[in-house]
Amino acid sequence: MALYQKTATELLGLLSSGQVTSEELTRAYAERIANIDKQVGAYLRVDVDGALEQARVIDARRKRGEKLGLLAGLPVAVKDLLTARGDLATCASRMLENYRATYDSTVVAKLRAADAVLLGRTNMDEFAMGGSTENSAFQKTRNPWDLERTPGGSSGGAAACVAADEACLSIGTDTGGSIRQPAALCGVTGLKPTYGSVSRYGLIAFASSLDQAGPLARTAEDAALLLEAIAGHDPQDATSINAPVPQYSQTVREPLKGLTLGLVREHFAAGLESETEAAVREAIKVYESLGARVKEVSFPHAKYGVAVYYIIAPCEASSNLARYDGIHYGRRTDEAKVAAELDAERKELLAAGKKREAETLDTSLVRLYRKSRAEGFGPEVKRRIMLGTYALSSGYYDAYYLKALKVRRLIRQDYDAAFQQGIDLIAGPCTAGPAFKLGEKVDDPLAMYLVDLYTVSANLAGVGGISIPCGFSKTGLPIGLQLQAPPLEEDKLLRAAHMFQTATDWHTRRPALA
Ligand code: GLN
Repeated sequence: MALYQKTATELLGLLSSGQVTSEELTRAYAERIANIDKQVGAYLRVDVDGALEQARVIDARRKRGEKLGLLAGLPVAVKDLLTARGDLATCASRMLENYRATYDSTVVAKLRAADAVLLGRTNMDEFAMGGSTENSAFQKTRNPWDLERTPGGSSGGAAACVAADEACLSIGTDTGGSIRQPAALCGVTGLKPTYGSVSRYGLIAFASSLDQAGPLARTAEDAALLLEAIAGHDPQDATSINAPVPQYSQTVREPLKGLTLGLVREHFAAGLESETEAAVREAIKVYESLGARVKEVSFPHAKYGVAVYYIIAPCEASSNLARYDGIHYGRRTDEAKVAAELDAERKELLAAGKKREAETLDTSLVRLYRKSRAEGFGPEVKRRIMLGTYALSSGYYDAYYLKALKVRRLIRQDYDAAFQQGIDLIAGPCTAGPAFKLGEKVDDPLAMYLVDLYTVSANLAGVGGISIPCGFSKTGLPIGLQLQAPPLEEDKLLRAAHMFQTATDWHTRRPALA
């Protein structure tokens, strides 16, 4: 087995026993990326020199016998919306194409503190809006299992790079499913933590009450390692939870006894493809064979999840993205051109004797805002801004935004009720079917939104969720099982996922990339 195919946990063993250096490992990934990423397109940028430099420093410190961090010497890929000092953070948007961060996000700072090697930055849907990574302004990412299909999104690059052995660990973000859904479609393990358990400081905001960063990896063991490194209270994020970080990497191997899984009746209804349903039901049987009990529950408000999400997320986006006006933040259009156009229009009106019209033309500042935003944002981002601005406008605020907030509470109560009935984890599908074709849903926003059917409610409720590989379609595409836990019980999610991975080998399968 090549170095780059090993799990992070295995690699840590090789690194600490001196069988391999971080420099060798980093080179192995750099070569793998050079060989394969032209096909996959997972990375927006790979910093080979910078990564090798970091690796050499860690190797030297190890040689001196210094105490090293949790991820010492392991290369990690980061989604391109977490700031890293001195590096670009584009959000895969023209708007931030040239934005170079002046500070580290807390996630990146924690990766550095854990002595990880920052390998490169992964592709995503623009501002994390989308479910296929096709909304990236820069490039397509392809699903390593079938290059004609999407890797899912918005953390498509993050999932694809792990699936294609171009990184063993990567960081994604999940606002409505963007870690779990691409993990499911690419056949890797992806965990969205409880809201507030990973700091959002330096995470370029899409929808602030929903956004969470989290790990993508090959195994639950590896995800536990990465989560332990990035989680924790951060005074720089007012929504950060002040609780100690459990030692996930230690507890992950402890089996769960007396586990009760809840199957949500509404998740096994119309819309779920039969192959996916069969794989998920088979996975539940594996849990039963490991001693778990299964109970059916009802989430009466599940059917409102997508509608509520697509009010709340765009509302928050319209507010968060207002800062990109070309003056305060973001791409600025050609100012001289704006001034010249205004001048020409004014002259034309005056020549036609339309003095009043000439005097009331939009100022060059307003034009600059408008043009900068028109040029900087792609169509999906514009759609979200319009949806959100509409739903927040004074005549509609109560009918849409406020109502959505109320239903959001009801969705959270569905979870609370299930967990109060003695259910430890909710188990079910992560997506309705396997990876779809590139281009298939791109012109049909509603179809793309419906992809989030099973994932948005965890974000709305603030609870954690994980997707783990649980089978394949007849055409060889991965299928994901989703587990969801009560707030701050990531420990249980990871242990349950690990338990499954000791009994099955779906997570060890690899796409045949030449
Ligand atoms: N697909 C969802 C959306 O487009 C979720 C995206 C995400 O989690 N960032 O909003």
